[in-house]
This record gives sequence, structure tokens and C-alpha cells, in this order.
Amino acid sequence: MIPRVRLPADVRLETLAVREGLPASPWGENSEALFLTSCFVHPDAATAARRFANEEEAFVYSRFSNPNLTIMERRLAALEGTSGCIATGSGMGAILLMFLALLKAGDHVVCSQSVFGSTIKLLQGEFAKFGVESTFVSQTDLAQWKAAIKPNTRLLFAETPTNPMTEVCDIQALADMAHNAGALLAVDNCMCSPALQQPVKFGADIVMHSGTKFLDGQGRVNAGALCATQVMVDEKFLPVMRSGGLSLSPFNAWVVAKGMETLSVRMKAQSDNSLQLAQWLEQHPAVARVYYPGLPSHPQYELAMKQQSGSGGAVLSFDVKGGREPSFAVIDATQVCSIAANFGDVRSIITHPATTTHGRLTEAQRQAAGIGQGMIRMGVGLEHIEDLKADLARGLDAVAA
Ligand SMILES: *Cc1c(COP(=O)(O)O)cnc(C)c1O
Repeated sequence: MIPRVRLPADVRLETLAVREGLPASPWGENSEALFLTSCFVHPDAATAARRFANEEEAFVYSRFSNPNLTIMERRLAALEGTSGCIATGSGMGAILLMFLALLKAGDHVVCSQSVFGSTIKLLQGEFAKFGVESTFVSQTDLAQWKAAIKPNTRLLFAETPTNPMTEVCDIQALADMAHNAGALLAVDNCMCSPALQQPVKFGADIVMHSGTKFLDGQGRVNAGALCATQVMVDEKFLPVMRSGGLSLSPFNAWVVAKGMETLSVRMKAQSDNSLQLAQWLEQHPAVARVYYPGLPSHPQYELAMKQQSGSGGAVLSFDVKGGREPSFAVIDATQVCSIAANFGDVRSIITHPATTTHGRLTEAQRQAAGIGQGMIRMGVGLEHIEDLKADLARGLDAVAA
């Protein structure tokens, strides 16, 4: 048995985030050690045999078991409220692991059309090639989800809120729909993180993460994970990890585990900054529209507040009046924000989705998704709110003048 940290049963998320993991090694370190070892030594041949046959729980080989992975997995499972978790080398690696483990030729997936672009590519490209069918539906129209379900539907997949439109889907309604059809619901929880939203509370079966975003929180590593029951992890995901090797490195797992210690305070502070920035942008004469679930003007404001602990999160988008030229000017006038295509960092990141993250779509697909040439996305960080406003005001005031 791999021992557990001893904690009172009723401790809260903030406590779990800094305390859940593994007990210290015999050296008594207070901060988690790094276990940069590819394999583990066994006391004798018979013990090694039992461990390789899964008859005795122990660390064996870092492709699928390592103390740094266990620390990160137990910590994330505790925050998401699941009994199990498995770490992967990236967020996309987590989605690939889930599809490989749960789907076979002839199965069908219903997926929101607004999920992360690579997820759509993975289903439409790779999995279609192996005979897995998928139907893409509106993020917010439950009737479309229902109509898309077929006898061979095994999985519903959604992400909420979406990027960059911040559309929110009803997790409980989708979970009920999936379960009535004998299917599972998986939710990509990158945008909110478990500090704001725990999809299993609303009935989701699997929660997927890109640790690259808020879990690391400081833009250092790529990582991913699937949270589900320990039974699903052991029976479905772990065998594919053992043979497929979608592993996370122990060092990156350590970085993400340390990042999670400050997740809650970062999410609160970055969400506060985001709300203030969204309110300020909504009043600016050069801004046509702001997309942020924390604003009462957002179409799913009430649902978002219910699912996301009363918070809008730390990603927002807005349309600059006049299209691409003025929106490029606003981006280029910033001196504090990073011009990049990520979010979930303590540094604010400013992005022009139509020419970067969503640049591979056709103009027609972008228009259908509502992503115009004037749209700017912000991953809001921890800088002082007045500095962020000033950074955007420089360009926006020039556009309005
Ligand atoms: C970034 C991201 C992913 C993919 O994660 P990687 O770690 O980059 O592979 C998946 N879903 C969402 C919502 C993301 O933002």
C-alpha cells in the first residue's frame, strides 16, 4: 500500500490544496521532494512479481507510477471531489487517453462545437479515421444535444465556459441526458479550475484538465489530467497509460502540484481583476461588446453564477469597434500584457483569436462561432487592476478619439 496523508475528513478545498498528496519521505521534508527516477527498486524478486501483477500497490516505473505523479493526482482528485485521477503529459494527452480508453470503432460522441480547437481536430481527424463518429452541437442549445444522441452514443463532451466566447453550458442537464442514454459526460474544466467549479457535483463522470493553465498557474509547464472514480482510473485509464505512455514527467507533476497550493487565492484575485476589467470595458466607447460570465449582461449569467461559485473566472473577451485594424492597435499599444495565446498565468495575456488560436478556421466558421476580427481575448493575471486598465486605455482611447 502507498500510505496516505492523515487529514480530518471534513477539511476544505484550500486545506486539501496544500496538504493532500503523499506523506513525507523518511527524511521529513516539509516541501515535496522531487523523485527524478525512472524505475523503483524492490526488496526481492517475489515482491517485484506481485507489484508488476498489480497485486501489491507500489511505485514501479515512472511511465505510469511515480511519487510526484501520485502527489499531483491525489491533490487534484481531492479538489475535484473524485476518488481517482491520472496525470498526462498535456491537456490534449488527457483527452486522447480518455478517447482511447472509452471508445471503439462504431461508437459515437456528441461534442460541443465550441470546445478547444485541437479537441475538434482529434475527433474529426484521428478518431474518425478509426471509425469513431462524432456530432458537434451548439454549446447552449440542449435540444440540439438531445437530438444528436443515438443508440451508439457513448460520450458527451463539453467545456464550460468556452474560449473565447465564454458560453456556459448546463452541466447537470447534460449529465442527466447522458445518463438517460447510457452514456458518460466528460467536462473540460480548464477555464474555471476546481477552485470555482467542480463538474462532478453537477453529475459529470469525468473531469479533464490542462494543467498548463490555472493548475500550474504560472505558465511554466505543459501537463494534463483526467479525474474520475478510482475504478474508472484503474480499469480504463491506467492500462492505456501503461501501454500508451502518455506520461507526465515527475518534474512537471511537481511544478503543477506546487502550483495547486496557491490555486484558490490566485483564482479569487484574478477573477476579481477580471470582473473589474469587464465592468470598465463595458463602459468604454471603443468597445462594442464584452463577453464575461460574471457580468449580468452575459446570456447565461445566472447559470454561470450557480456553477462557478458566484465567479466569472479569469478569462474575458471583448469586441473593439471597427474590426481588425483597431483591435491590432489596442494589442500593440499594451506595455504590460504579454502578446501570446495562453491563459491561466499570473501574467495577463492578450490574444487576437481570429488570427491566432482560431486562425485555422475559415472566415465562415469563425463568423458562425461569433469570433470577429475585432475580438480580443484576455487571460487576466495578477497585475494591479489600474495598470491593466491603463494598458488597455492607451489603445482604446486612441480608437475612440
Ligand atoms: C489549453 C487547453 C487544452 C489543451 O491543453 P494542453 O495542455 O495545451 O494540451 C484543452 N482544453 C482547453 C479548454 C484548453 O484551454
